[in-house]
Amino acid sequence: MHKGDLAMGVAFQLEPSVDRFVKAPPRKMLIGGKWVDAVSGKTFATVNPADGSELARVAEGDAEDVDRAAKAARKAFDDGPWPHMAPTERQRILLKVADLIETHGKELAQLETLDNGKALFETENVDIPQAAGTFRYYAGWVNKITGETSPTDPGYFNFTLREPVGVCGQIIPWNFPLLMAAWKLGPALACGNTVVLKPAEQTPLTALRLGELLLEAGVPEGVVNIVPGFGETAGAAIVRHRMIDKVAFTGSTEVGKLIQREASDTLKRVSLELGGKSPNIVFADADIAAAVQGALMGVFFNQGEVCCAGTRLFVEQKIHDEFAAALATAAGTMKQGPGLEPGVQVGPLVSQEQLDRVTGYLAIGKKEGAKAILGGERNTAPGLEKGYFVKPTVFTGVNNDMRIAQEEIFGPVVSVLPFKDEHDAVFEGNRTLYGLAAGVWTKDVSKAHRVARAIRAGTVWVNCYNVFDVVSPFGGYKQSGYGRELSHYALDLYTNVKSVWLKI
Ligand code: NDP
Repeated sequence: MHKGDLAMGVAFQLEPSVDRFVKAPPRKMLIGGKWVDAVSGKTFATVNPADGSELARVAEGDAEDVDRAAKAARKAFDDGPWPHMAPTERQRILLKVADLIETHGKELAQLETLDNGKALFETENVDIPQAAGTFRYYAGWVNKITGETSPTDPGYFNFTLREPVGVCGQIIPWNFPLLMAAWKLGPALACGNTVVLKPAEQTPLTALRLGELLLEAGVPEGVVNIVPGFGETAGAAIVRHRMIDKVAFTGSTEVGKLIQREASDTLKRVSLELGGKSPNIVFADADIAAAVQGALMGVFFNQGEVCCAGTRLFVEQKIHDEFAAALATAAGTMKQGPGLEPGVQVGPLVSQEQLDRVTGYLAIGKKEGAKAILGGERNTAPGLEKGYFVKPTVFTGVNNDMRIAQEEIFGPVVSVLPFKDEHDAVFEGNRTLYGLAAGVWTKDVSKAHRVARAIRAGTVWVNCYNVFDVVSPFGGYKQSGYGRELSHYALDLYTNVKSVWLKI
């Protein structure tokens, strides 16, 4: 290891491989098992959000590159060994991928923190281990994906096969770059599909490093193709391509709608994990200290760049003021700074664009009459001026009709709203076009069950928040999308069911 100065002049022991990765000539894209330049020869910059400096240049994929990648993936699916490989062999390779992610965990964590901004503590303890765990979990499924026999008329024998869908286009966002790649690739590969993956333009580095590890683990050429580039060009080309059978997308509801419309032309299968505006409901009978901590991590984890963040914090009227004050006090102690700096809990936002978007919402909130009892502005403390830092913000005086209560902000901003009773909490909690997640804090078990059932969302956490495990499904109701990722439910996204009849 040697010293690096990539984050705000902070001397930090970077893994040598990180240095190689960010200082090398422009990173190439992975097509057909080879690292290649874009057909156009173009590259784009990926930026360190802690100080706005250029971190690396990356090949800029466009429609022609997606076409090459789709053809490579098609060939690998139709002729290649992957879908027809002995399941135990495919399993062995995916287990190796998990092992390699762990072996290179330190390096991947640093690379992720440099590219995305998030605290190293989070990349080391959440993103990387969960990415490895996701590959390991789906490796376990490879030889357990079975069909069934059906009780038909005795003159026939009928059985079903679960077959891979084919070539899958996977478009992922920037908030958990490596983890989202694992959520998408794990089940797709376990089921025997081949893939064209597009990482977000803001955070392409860990996906490209993962590409190297996939090859090292023995994933055959053409099975995973990684095309960095922009959504409007490379992303749109994936959605339109005739050789691609399915698109899996995580990102904004706006782009999700666009993708669904575009995919209708080729009738691709689509799964969408989209935005959220999740209600986190605190009843007066809750363990208040635990609820404050839960509300805090429910919204400020990952700088609030989390689709299921508990951004609408409903607190029972009689404890509202005291609770909001306790939350602001706790949030005020969170250390903000470059993600690589020891002890940092809240890093910068991912990009200038996201900084503008979030500070725009802070202005909207104030104009609407909300009061920032903490934060409410960009953080330009000495050393942070060039980075995309927004102070953790707690708004009170919010009502559920305001834009800050209804629109996804995707930053460290929470709105605290009072409610009268259980009916009011459920009614207002559900009054959003989203339905990704919710939280409920109470010691009353019956109330917890009633509210968990009444909330229209794909995940409900009771007396906890933001708990994830690969064994439990994740996905949306309403305009938060459809299809379930993680757990055995994700296998449904990546398999077709074939019914076979034999006349006896
Ligand atoms: P997008 O939805 O634009 O980006 C997500 C992914 O989709 C990226 O890989 C992006 O590519 C790609 N993409 C963009 N446009 C298209 C298109 N027309 N066809 C195919 N793919 C496309 O999110 P943004 O980065 O613009 O963030 C805006 C807001 O979206 C955030 O503030 C947040 O509210 C929400 N969001 C939600 C996420 C979630 O987890 N649900 C994750 C990220 C954002 P590229 O980045 O290269 O342009």
